[in-house]
Amino acid sequence: MSLDIQESVPLAEFTTFKIGGEARFFVSAQSEIEIIEALRFAEKNKLEVFILGGGSNLLIADEGFDGLVLQISLKGILFGAEASLPAINNGLARKNETLVTARAGENWEEFVAFCIEKNLAGLECLSGIPGFVGGTPVQNVGAYGQEVSETIVSVRCFDRNAKKIVEMTNAECEFAYRTSIFNTTYINRFVVLGVTYALKYDGEPKIVYKDLQNYFNGKKPNLQETRHAVLNIRSDKSMVINKNDPNSNSAGSFFKNPIVDLKKFAKIKQTAKNMGASEVPSYSVNTNKIKIPAAWLIEKSGFYKGFLFGEVGISTKHTLAIVNFGNAKASDVICLKNKIQRKVKEKFDVTLKPEPVFIGFKDLQKHD
Ligand SMILES: Cc1cc2nc3c(=O)[nH]c(=O)nc-3n(C[C@H](O)[C@H](O)[C@H](O)COP(=O)(O)OP(=O)(O)OC[C@H]3O[C@@H](n4cnc5c(N)ncnc54)[C@H](O)[C@@H]3O)c2cc1C
Repeated sequence: MSLDIQESVPLAEFTTFKIGGEARFFVSAQSEIEIIEALRFAEKNKLEVFILGGGSNLLIADEGFDGLVLQISLKGILFGAEASLPAINNGLARKNETLVTARAGENWEEFVAFCIEKNLAGLECLSGIPGFVGGTPVQNVGAYGQEVSETIVSVRCFDRNAKKIVEMTNAECEFAYRTSIFNTTYINRFVVLGVTYALKYDGEPKIVYKDLQNYFNGKKPNLQETRHAVLNIRSDKSMVINKNDPNSNSAGSFFKNPIVDLKKFAKIKQTAKNMGASEVPSYSVNTNKIKIPAAWLIEKSGFYKGFLFGEVGISTKHTLAIVNFGNAKASDVICLKNKIQRKVKEKFDVTLKPEPVFIGFKDLQKHD
């Protein structure tokens, strides 16, 4: 079989930021065999490998990536009995739930729409998120009070160390807020090939997030109405990709919401009080941990919606999104990132952690 290996491929078009240099080698793999072949090619030629999905959570360096970029383009959705077999064989099937397996290269938003068409609950709040299915377990994608970890039963992966295909259970993925083993302990080890979700036929939509509750104002929506509400709320914040929206060239939220202990939270409240702010918005994570919106910290540190810094800036609709407003370079984005992190650290002694993955950079601090 001959693998289509391309050379010197510009990567910007594969990302939602529309930024980044070239990949030395590039393969878009349409089958599991092609993935294994491409990994063999990289090993034989001692190339670093970067696994690419839909490119919506990435910032690629202006210098590009001096190795093999392997895009996972596997397509297909298995529904009901077909999807259930591996889970049943592994004792993972859950009662009263319908199992749906999507291959890693399926478009996430289209997959969510498909599930809602079939009247399956469990992913409705995750409507409008760009990227591929394979990216969703990596950072445990979440929005509006729902995370994929709530419905993922298992993740089919190619284990690059053991060189075999494995089916990881939900527990083995060690999901937490925007993390899993795929972006922490075992970063770069597993290639996600497909994901199985357990969804509830005719289930209730999850309406726990304040924005959604306000939208419905006490009315009980169905799944389709919930999906539309999420899409509307996201559009108002430029959080769905729309080529006519100048805020669209971004990687979504650029920073994670920091989680602090009670002692740190008390200090932040004192700092805020000294600045004349009456309240610090927060959500309790557990008895000792509090999550603070990064957007609030950024605004209180002197940044604002529409803040411009050359060709990059902050979205005019959402303080957490850094946007390429023209022909920004990756180094411009890093400069603004560093500037925001420094100010927030100075003001609140909180280190904001970026959400996107940085590819091909040698030194993130040097861009100042
Ligand atoms: C406008 C906008 C809104 C967004 N809103 C949200 C949101 O509400 N909630 C949220 O959680 N995220 C959000 N995101 C971020 C992003 O869409 C998600 O993280 C998405 O799941 C990333 O998937 P991807 O296929 O684009 O991954 P990529 O960006 O291609 O890759 C991201 C990381 O995942 C790894 N990866 C991707 N595919 C695989 C695979 N098959 N196997 C192994 N590793 C893989 C890559 O190596 C990389 O480390 C948003 C982004 C944008 C641009």
